[in-house]
Amino acid sequence: MMKIPAQEIAFDFDGVVADTFRLFVEIARTDYHVSIEYEDITDYDFLKVIKMELDDAIKIIDTITYLPHEIDLLPNLGAMEVLSRLARISPVLLVTARPVAEPLERWFKRHAPKLPPGHIRIIATGTNTAKLEILQEEGVRYFIEDRVDTCHLLAPEGITPIIYDQPWNRKDHSFLTVKSWDDISSLINWNGMG
Ligand SMILES: [Mg+2]
Repeated sequence: MMKIPAQEIAFDFDGVVADTFRLFVEIARTDYHVSIEYEDITDYDFLKVIKMELDDAIKIIDTITYLPHEIDLLPNLGAMEVLSRLARISPVLLVTARPVAEPLERWFKRHAPKLPPGHIRIIATGTNTAKLEILQEEGVRYFIEDRVDTCHLLAPEGITPIIYDQPWNRKDHSFLTVKSWDDISSLINWNGMG
C-alpha cells in the first residue's frame, strides 16, 4: 500500500488511542468484583458477552465517558508519540462516537501536555453511523477504527478503514489490520506533505 499522507488519516479514540476496555475490565474487578477476561470480549456490544449488572456497567461507562482525565485511562503503547509526531505535520483529527468531546480534550492535556492546543481536534458524533458524514466533510481518506460495523459503512464510500486489532474485531472482515501504533506509524508517509 502507498504510504498515507498525514493530512488524510484520522482516528477513533476508544480502543484505538486509549486502552478503554482494559480499564473497564479493571474497574469491574476492583469496584464490582466482576471478573472479565479481556480476550473474552468478542463482541463490540460487550454488554452482551459479559456477565454483569447493567446498572453497574453503565456507571463504569459514565465514568469513562465524563471523567476520562481523572481515572487511569491510559493511551495505548506508542499512541501519544505517533499522534504528537503527526500533529507537527498536520492537525490530528479524532472522530469518536462519544457524546461529548470536552473530557477527551482534558485527557489529552493530561497525557500529551506538550501538544499545543489546536493540534488535536476531537469531533464527538454521539453515534457510530454519524462518523461517515464527518469523515467525508473533513476529507479523510483513511480511518483507524476498532468497530468492524463502522468499517463496513466507510469502505463503500471511499474511506479506507484500517482495523485496530481487538478481540471483538477479528471476524467478518478482510480489512487491513494493525496490531500496534508501530504498525500505524509504518503506514504513514513521514516525508512531509507528500
Ligand atoms: Mg473505538
